[in-house]
Amino acid sequence: MEDVKGYSGKLIRENVLQEGQRKDYISDLVELNIDAQATHEVIDMALGFLSPVEGFMGYNDVQSVAENMELSDGTLWSIPITLNIREEDIKKNHLSEGDTVLLMNDGKAVAVMKIGEIFSVDNRKLSESIYGTDNTKHPGVKRTMSKPEKCISGKITLVSRPIFNEPFDRFWKTPREHADLFKSKGWKHIVAHQTRNVPHTGHEWLMKYAWFSANEDLGVDPVQTGVLVSAVVGEKRLGDYIDEAILLGQASLSEAGYFKKDVHAVSFILWDMRYAGPREAIHHAIMRANLGCTHHMFGRDHAGVGDFYKPYDAHHLLQQVKDKLPIKPVFVLENWFCPVCGEITNAAFCGHESQSESFSGSLIRSILLDGVRPTKRIMRPEVYDAVMTSAKKYGFGSPFVTEQYMNGRSRIYDFMDLKVKA
Ligand SMILES: [Zn+2]
Repeated sequence: MEDVKGYSGKLIRENVLQEGQRKDYISDLVELNIDAQATHEVIDMALGFLSPVEGFMGYNDVQSVAENMELSDGTLWSIPITLNIREEDIKKNHLSEGDTVLLMNDGKAVAVMKIGEIFSVDNRKLSESIYGTDNTKHPGVKRTMSKPEKCISGKITLVSRPIFNEPFDRFWKTPREHADLFKSKGWKHIVAHQTRNVPHTGHEWLMKYAWFSANEDLGVDPVQTGVLVSAVVGEKRLGDYIDEAILLGQASLSEAGYFKKDVHAVSFILWDMRYAGPREAIHHAIMRANLGCTHHMFGRDHAGVGDFYKPYDAHHLLQQVKDKLPIKPVFVLENWFCPVCGEITNAAFCGHESQSESFSGSLIRSILLDGVRPTKRIMRPEVYDAVMTSAKKYGFGSPFVTEQYMNGRSRIYDFMDLKVKA
């Protein structure tokens, strides 16, 4: 495998213990349980998705990210990556700086971490900096405010690589594996499409417009530009599309020939959405740059929630930090079907807005919930079939997240079951 550089120019390392090291290394360590979000971040940091960040941040980085939107060394960074821990757990385990701990999730050993610092944060202040509000109706704020205000920092080394279950195994790729994929496809430019959605035809055409944008000066013979559909897989909320339907629905677009296979690929990132709007847009740009993408689509209200951000706040912030941004933003406006134009068109072109039919998420949702096949104009039949097959197989009959799915969904990945303590 060739060396791959992350967006800051630093080499991407995969920090994973070798098989022979495992038992010696971890058998005497203090065990600390971490939640699913921290586990996702551990995997991301160890494998390079968050390069150059290789461990939970210390005080200076957290403050610098919150206040100046950069790491303490000046690298652009918009969302703090912290490991919050209860005071009582610090005391109970007699933790101090310099100790090495074993991070556990769900009874499995996940990673080792040498504690750099133990420090305090102010969750309300952090929320105001990151989300622009301390209103707990904002789901990101709610989560931040619910965390303990003590943090421990330290570099992460995975105990073993996560093993992905089907259908996720088909779509999981580390940054280094993305580099291999792009090389095998001959892609020089890659435009990322961030998604938590099953694709409707409006999305499909936005990706197609974005392909032309990203292709820039490359010419078309041979094709050297691709669209990477990069789904975010993480904490779900009731009513979201189930992860399996998103991945299999997106993949069906090239399986059914709406994209040629040589311009289309689907993968995912483990990341719990913060819904931090503009700041999260920058974070998405950084993660996709670490995958090797050169361009990134940003639509209306990117990574927003409710009416906490104005529709184009993210675009404005991205333009402000343009010189530091590791990827070219491709700004896109909403698509709709216009009966006068007689086609799927875009808010940038079509002058018949009052007569157009927008791709309303809630309308599509209600159609799918009624078990009705949407018209071809809204959703490709192959996408619908993939979504409904996923609903049956993985979603207890529904393509949307239900209580039953929350509690009983099949696991995305597992860690090796290492018998740590004899
Ligand atoms: Zn029109």
